[in-house]
Amino acid sequence: MGVDIRVENLNAWYGPVHTLKDITLHIPPNKATALIGPSGCGKSTFVRCLNRLHETNPTGRVEGLVRIGEVDIYKDVSPVEIRRRVGMVFQRPNPFPTMSIYENVASGLRLGDTPRKGVLNEVVELSLQQAALWDEVKDDLKKSGASLSGGQQQRLCIARALAVNPEVLLMDEPASALDPISTAKIEDLIFKLKSRYTIVVVTHNMQQAARVAENTGFFLLGKLVEFDSTHKIFTNPSDKRTQDYITGRFG
Ligand code: ADP
Ligand code: MG
Repeated sequence: MGVDIRVENLNAWYGPVHTLKDITLHIPPNKATALIGPSGCGKSTFVRCLNRLHETNPTGRVEGLVRIGEVDIYKDVSPVEIRRRVGMVFQRPNPFPTMSIYENVASGLRLGDTPRKGVLNEVVELSLQQAALWDEVKDDLKKSGASLSGGQQQRLCIARALAVNPEVLLMDEPASALDPISTAKIEDLIFKLKSRYTIVVVTHNMQQAARVAENTGFFLLGKLVEFDSTHKIFTNPSDKRTQDYITGRFG
């Protein structure tokens, strides 16, 4: 099941550059939350703070609280454990190019004690089904992940993320490199998956946010300007900067 995410006074830097400034928000469980804002405002940095990926950048630094469910991710657990609980999908589909479709999905499970073959087969099938890819690949599981179309590769990456049974799925512009039909499939998937996972999706496509997410946060210059129900953000935002952005005055 999905869990909630509580962020308090989160700050992040690249070297001396203060990139995220005092972000506080509560992301509810089992819903999709969209993060919008102009390029460079800190959306990617923010989601990378939710699975401790930001600190893998040599100049990256984080301060503040991120609680995922009951876990204070910067105090209670290792980065490896948190990345199992918090899956991530990136803008460019990044299947392991030398691995088969099957091995791509199974890869996360092999990091721990490798489960028995039968269990592995089951998890791979279930994950591909959850990612709405099973029917398209079930006869070709040995084929390279790189042989799939872009949209299929992105769903393969979603299957790979789901295979380790995460609580949260972070998606950083997951459809921005895809054609409209593949984009629609990803959006349908977000809709389905949120009953089981907490989903945070960065998008520069405001229609996409409106279609998939219950709540939306608007970032600008490293600050969270406004966080509210998607309906409120797009029809009656409280902040003039949000209003200007959604009406297309900048960005
Ligand atoms: P967004 O995802 O909203 O486009 P980012 O989080 O990628 O924004 O970037 C926020 C700011 O941090 C930008 O000013 C960007 O130039 C800077 N930044 C992003 N990645 C790095 C990096 N690896 N090193 C230094 N600065 C970075
Ligand atoms: Mg980004």
